[in-house]
Amino acid sequence: MSYQQILVAVDLTEECDPVVNRAQALAESTGARLSLVHIVEPMAMAFGGDVPMDLSQLQQQQYDQAMERLEKLLAKFPTLSKDDAHLTYGQPRQEIHQLAKQKGIDLIVVGSHGRHGLKLLLGSTSNDVLHGAPCDVLAVRLKEPAAGDKAKPVDDIPDNTAF
Ligand code: AMP
Repeated sequence: MSYQQILVAVDLTEECDPVVNRAQALAESTGARLSLVHIVEPMAMAFGGDVPMDLSQLQQQQYDQAMERLEKLLAKFPTLSKDDAHLTYGQPRQEIHQLAKQKGIDLIVVGSHGRHGLKLLLGSTSNDVLHGAPCDVLAVRLKEPAAGDKAKPVDDIPDNTAF
């Protein structure tokens, strides 16, 4: 069975390069159409819901920054069409599943740190996306950053990064 509609979910850090590379290679080898999605999580969600202040300006900045990073990512992967790139507000699992259903996606590709133990209990997006997914899910194994290292955002990566 070959895939026809692949959706790659990206967190817009430097870690998404190997995930997009894998999704793109799969799309090329199966002749599938490749779409991409990033979910911007509303700030109120990160703070646990009830925040007694207006976050709309901060949220707009958060969205604009994500759009900038997405454009940089698309520039690095010219075969990805802007029409197939989605930037959505919400909760990653819910939005990714909904988009997958809407677009008739048959494979979702995510990155995975292969966490276990307490880190897994604390949750990971790949694990979350897998549960209740409307189609196959491919978790691309990512290297666990060294202690103290934080994944850099896409715009910290030089444009001539070799894959
Ligand atoms: P995490 O569990 O946050 O380390 O992320 C694992 C993978 O989930 C990433 O490599 C992405 O494929 C996906 N992911 C994480 N956050 C997002 C997001 N905000 N939007 C879309 N995909 C995401």
